[in-house]
Amino acid sequence: MKATATFISTQKEAPADAEVVSHKLMMRAGFIKRLGAGIYNYMPLGLRVIRKVEAIIREEMVRAGAVELLMPVVQPAELWQETGRFQAYGPELMRVKDRHERDFVIQPTSEEVITDIARQELRSYKQLPRNFFHIQTKFRDERRPRFGVMRGREFTMKDAYSFDRDKAGALKSYQTMFDAYKRIFDRFGLQYRAVAADTGAIGGDASHEFQVIADTGEDDIVYCPTSEYAANIELAEALPLLASRAAASQALAKTPTPGKSTCADVAELLKLPLAQTVKSLVLATDELNAKGDIVKSTVWLLLVRGDHDLNEVKAGKVEGLKDGFRFATVAEIEEHFGCKPGYLGPIGLKKPVKVVADRTVANMADFVCGANEADFHFTGVNWGRDLPEPDLVADIRNVVAGDPSPDGKGVLAIQRGIEVGHVFYLGTKKYSTPMKAQFLDENGKAQPFEMGCYGIGVTRILGAAIEQNHDERGMIWPVAIAPFAVVICPIGYDRSPEVQAEADKLHDALAAEGIDVLLDDRGERPGAMFADWELIGVPLRVVLSDRGLKAGTVEMQGRRATTADIVPMAEVVARVK
Ligand code: ATP
Ligand code: MG
Ligand code: MG
Ligand code: MG
Repeated sequence: MKATATFISTQKEAPADAEVVSHKLMMRAGFIKRLGAGIYNYMPLGLRVIRKVEAIIREEMVRAGAVELLMPVVQPAELWQETGRFQAYGPELMRVKDRHERDFVIQPTSEEVITDIARQELRSYKQLPRNFFHIQTKFRDERRPRFGVMRGREFTMKDAYSFDRDKAGALKSYQTMFDAYKRIFDRFGLQYRAVAADTGAIGGDASHEFQVIADTGEDDIVYCPTSEYAANIELAEALPLLASRAAASQALAKTPTPGKSTCADVAELLKLPLAQTVKSLVLATDELNAKGDIVKSTVWLLLVRGDHDLNEVKAGKVEGLKDGFRFATVAEIEEHFGCKPGYLGPIGLKKPVKVVADRTVANMADFVCGANEADFHFTGVNWGRDLPEPDLVADIRNVVAGDPSPDGKGVLAIQRGIEVGHVFYLGTKKYSTPMKAQFLDENGKAQPFEMGCYGIGVTRILGAAIEQNHDERGMIWPVAIAPFAVVICPIGYDRSPEVQAEADKLHDALAAEGIDVLLDDRGERPGAMFADWELIGVPLRVVLSDRGLKAGTVEMQGRRATTADIVPMAEVVARVK
């Protein structure tokens, strides 16, 4: 393909609302254009990557025995009422009405519709197992759409659904999908980890997330470098965290009147190690102007491990306390939080120190806060005003690096990840039973389908791949999902007939080998042209110039390489293959 036959529109600056590198680079490289919060146009270069991601997924799904169909984006509410999710799904579910005032949803996922298909089409055990998938637009009215395509409201998902006659069969289908996911993510060329996940509200008892490893990921992954153990942090710590929080609530319910207790008393009361209780400090950061006046003061909540010495924390000797922090004045705290500063009650926290932004504090209804006297707690007092946010739970960690692995085969390490895929064993409870989706077994008896569901965030893959693979010049695509595998950059395409002829010839030779090659025929100056392709992250660049051609050579450079190789023209095709 020639550059003028597609659409390239790069920018020097990223828009101010782009917080993470993938969002910035996708905007700058012209992969996406914002239409509204969490809603993007996929521009031609971005769409090429999406199509490559989809093609790999489709191939591997079909190889694993899944059958493609396509379910509607707009779905009648009746089906969602059958499972109770029309109400239960909450504000993420976009509900709309048609001209007759009938309710519909814009699908965030498709369990109801596929179960409806199954109950009509799969009537006998002889038709099982079955796995259907589609690659379709989803809409979730995310509370905080952000990070570009990584947490969009409208996005593309591959979702697959398996139907089996019994649990053993369903777990086999699950394993088949798990293996297919591994092949898919291997083929993408991304570094990832499959981690055990909580089955949560959806029910069932097997679930894994596929997480692309990236420091900027929103999820924490707990794994053991010397064994197979890997889980998302919610699962890794769910039991101790929930147990200690439940114990805290109960214990505090018994002592509702404000009183004095030290962290040690609380540990005793809850039968927790002192290190698993937590106290908090309120502190503030100031922004000063040139004259030294405070122009902006932000109040923060600092959670501190129960066995930490507060004086050391105040002296900045504890990890997490950044320069420039000062402790807020009582007046500032009162004004900011609408209550007095103090020390948090026990919440079962082992991580040493964590700074939590004030928005979180505003939502800490669940917590017990305390006195304005060091090391003493008033119990039975609620700090926050609104409902607790799920994010808050994610902010408070029980598991720390160095803890023993649950499998006893080493110690735990923690890294960040981006959830790009999720496989789930569903069983019968959530969909087939309430929707009366049944088949007849050998004895003519009606049985509910044993189900599984399997998602991949197609558009999120783009963001995740860039978060993992980029440098200061731009994106670095793995070749399998790159917008182009090779870019030919001719210097003087618009003025040297020889360069033009040789570049065209090379383009055709590579294309004839099935290589996804782009020839930059825009006639840009070398600096701007190279900068564009480095930003766009094409993995291999071939530079043609009059000088090189005289010697019968071109320059070839991998996107991660710091220098170019001089390669005889005749060898280029073989080298690229
Ligand atoms: P998250 O925890 O990030 O909100 P989820 O667990 O709600 O994701 P699933 O219901 O498991 O998501 O959906 C399957 C896949 O769809 C996810 O693994 C993810 O890759 C993708 N996905 C989910 N929400 C979004 C979104 N808002 N934008 C882009 N992709 C998404
Ligand atoms: Mg979600
Ligand atoms: Mg999730
Ligand atoms: Mg998920």
